[in-house]
Amino acid sequence: GSNDIIDIFNEKLEKNNLNKDIQVVRTGCFGFCEQGPIVKVLPDNTFYVKVEEKDVEEIINEHVIKGRRVERLLYVEPEKNEKIEESPKMPFYKKQVRVALRNAGSINPEDINEYVANDGYIALAKALTEMSRDEVVKTVLDSGLRGRGGGGFPTGLKWNFAKKANGDIKYVICNADEGDPGAFMDRSVLEGDPHAVLEGMALAGYAIGASKGFIYIRAEYPLAVHRLEIAIKQAKELGFLGENIFGTDFSFDIEIRLGAGAFVCGEETALIHSIEGYRGEPTTKPPFPANSGLFNKPTLINNVETYANVAIIVLKGADWYRSFGTDKSPGTKVFALAGAINNVGLVEVPMGTTLSRSSYGNNFKRNCFCEIGGGIRNNGKFKAVQTGGPSGGCIPAAYLDTPIDFDNLMALGSMMGSGGMIVMDESTCMVDVSKFYLTFTVEESCGKCTPCRIGNVRLLETLEKITSGRGKPEDLEKLETLGKVIKDTSLCGLGQTAPNPILSTMHYFRNEYEAHVNERT
Ligand code: SF4
Repeated sequence: GSNDIIDIFNEKLEKNNLNKDIQVVRTGCFGFCEQGPIVKVLPDNTFYVKVEEKDVEEIINEHVIKGRRVERLLYVEPEKNEKIEESPKMPFYKKQVRVALRNAGSINPEDINEYVANDGYIALAKALTEMSRDEVVKTVLDSGLRGRGGGGFPTGLKWNFAKKANGDIKYVICNADEGDPGAFMDRSVLEGDPHAVLEGMALAGYAIGASKGFIYIRAEYPLAVHRLEIAIKQAKELGFLGENIFGTDFSFDIEIRLGAGAFVCGEETALIHSIEGYRGEPTTKPPFPANSGLFNKPTLINNVETYANVAIIVLKGADWYRSFGTDKSPGTKVFALAGAINNVGLVEVPMGTTLSRSSYGNNFKRNCFCEIGGGIRNNGKFKAVQTGGPSGGCIPAAYLDTPIDFDNLMALGSMMGSGGMIVMDESTCMVDVSKFYLTFTVEESCGKCTPCRIGNVRLLETLEKITSGRGKPEDLEKLETLGKVIKDTSLCGLGQTAPNPILSTMHYFRNEYEAHVNERT
């Protein structure tokens, strides 16, 4: 409903002759989706939630004209039953550290001047005029930034490989093919702050010696595509993209390529084939894209959130970035909180944030992620959290104290993925959860290799047999054995991780699989 609310604001401000003094700014996502549509009134920072069309008149009459807050539209903290006027004081925002999302929800993403006014393109100017290519790579390396697309590969190392690769033509690609169910991190970054990504890509181009970049984005994200188009045009007009940027010999241009909705095209070799005009199928590595990627030229691929971190790292330094997060996973991470949780939305927290703290047991309240999430919906009890989407796994209540970072999630049999975090309460059947994710991967398998194309279908058939009450005890062994074979023998990450939801739920919730099988007998 936000678009209609904006129209009504504009119409009523004009009617009251206030439209010259007061601007209605359309921003990207505030993150607090559960409380939307949100209207923030500046300069006093009043944060109105769940605003409806009928509320606009009252906000103008009371707040804008008479300077009195509209109490009934303020956020109420459920536990204390207290009204909170400004977002930094809300539990949802208090525990967050917004780096990649630094401008999302506060600037107009369709106006480059707002990005520039918030230190935009200063990192690019600094790099081009004060830093060598090696120094830019070293800064990213020293920051410890790891790829936010899922694998967590050190970004600086990737940049170094691409920089050292031989080739007069090199490419930079931004992977914006976000397709995990329940994940909307990259979309929100692009919709809320597209220039942060463009600046990160230009810095990457300078660092590795590339003059051309591509953003591969799913066509299902029309608003993000629209805002990227505007951002690229404005950046070219102001000379932040194009020929001889800041009067130097560095030129860099960016084009958009639309994906047609295949999840597998998030895999880098499949993505490259898709840009080249071929069918989006993965190929074996090596050669790695850093040596032979797009059009067989050295190519650097990072995802949206990774690029969105780069400019601020170059501007503020590696040590500043390392002041957040853990030793092995520095910085912050954006997560899409969804599922049986009160505060569904988009959050950014330092790596190492725990799901909960032991002193509160597993009631999933008043703790790190838990505090941000506002507890389980309908006063339910926490059962598990799924991270990493269809490639990840489920973490049970016993591990609520684990600091969330790349390595700890892997150790628990899950993975970071791109940052989807789906919370489940006790009413969730974990066998159904793994069936849901496997149905997704079976549909999205490109079919190129046998273990994934056939093996995952056999896994799904077995799961369907179990959930329909026809399962036998030996089916559980089959799930485990076949799952491990598929992981070991599939060609790309999609197949190699597809059995993860089954294997992790069988590990932590085997009793539920057994209950299904025993129902039959
Ligand atoms: Fe295609 Fe699956 Fe094989 Fe990947 S693992 S190449 S998605 S069939």
